[in-house]
Amino acid sequence: MAKRDYYDTLGVSKSASSSEIKKAYRKLALKYHPDKNPDDAGAEEKFKEAAEAYEVLSDETKKQQYDRFGHAGMRGAAGGGGGGHHMNMEDIFSQFGDIFGGGGGGFGGFGGGGGGRRRRMKGSDLRIKVKLTLEEVATGAKKKIKVAKQMQAEGVEHSDCHQCNGTGQIRRVTNTILGAMQTSSTCPSCNGSGYSITSKPSGTDQWGMKREEQVVTIDIPSGVEDGMQLNVRGEGNGAPIGGVAGDLLVVIEVLKHDAFQRNGKNLHHDLYISFIDATLGSSAQIPLLSGKAKIKVEPGTQSGKLVRLRGKGLPSVDSYGNGDLLVNINVWTPKNLTKEERKTLESLRESSNFQPETDHDERGFFDKVNDLFS
Ligand SMILES: [Zn+2]
Repeated sequence: MAKRDYYDTLGVSKSASSSEIKKAYRKLALKYHPDKNPDDAGAEEKFKEAAEAYEVLSDETKKQQYDRFGHAGMRGAAGGGGGGHHMNMEDIFSQFGDIFGGGGGGFGGFGGGGGGRRRRMKGSDLRIKVKLTLEEVATGAKKKIKVAKQMQAEGVEHSDCHQCNGTGQIRRVTNTILGAMQTSSTCPSCNGSGYSITSKPSGTDQWGMKREEQVVTIDIPSGVEDGMQLNVRGEGNGAPIGGVAGDLLVVIEVLKHDAFQRNGKNLHHDLYISFIDATLGSSAQIPLLSGKAKIKVEPGTQSGKLVRLRGKGLPSVDSYGNGDLLVNINVWTPKNLTKEERKTLESLRESSNFQPETDHDERGFFDKVNDLFS
């Protein structure tokens, strides 16, 4: 199923400002909110879709990634399947604090079942770099990576925050010329969570968190490109007291390959043959990312000839079908000759068959690449 463009989902243009994006999302969230549309699965689907689009477009790095690579760049890794970047209802409600300003007015029911207006704490995102060979890009790879994360330590105890009585909000009444006005703001003592830590093991921070190494298995789909970022939901830093963990942002680095240069999903390989083989014809072995192939060298092959091996390139991360392997044939000129060899070649020097044709192909390498694809 083709996934809708996030900008289309929110009904904004690609150049929309962050406040326009927020406004558009706020409108959709109100329209499709499950409380307003009970038992309407269609509305719930739209509600989730909008939340997901907002989650990406409101985050500068995720937005850049999406603008560059589309949904492919947003591919989660945990499920190992399709375009798994889905939010559950809890994530969505935890996002609301930011959207509706925490003050709540009229949105009391959006707390996600009994949570009141407490803000669920969210762990921060972590970013790591993963190096891949072209062979791994071709097949996709499962990588086990050690990640140092902030995690809640064992034995942490908590109670309701004394300053806000566990509401996460501080209410203040101010007298203005229009009369008394009540404002509420996030409780500074508990950061809006409504909790305070009563007991925690030593070596942990104020929230009872400490750094811990964990092994995370990351499913990297085939065809990824250098600089692409995969977001693995929930594998970032943890959050205290049942909060939501951040994401693990996996930046792909594709290593240089000895035999191939990459151009999108096509690969280039430079083949060197002797001028004897070029003249008389021969065959040559070509390395592939998996295995080998043989190509025929026609008699009279000119240096710079391109041979295309269909489908021997790379898969694409967001479309079907492999790219091609383009073999660039270079005729190698010997540098050292024995006396005998020199004599043989000298005897051929004046032969008319050895003179370059004046109407030879003048087009350069990139024209030839274009010809192959036109
Ligand atoms: Zn508090």
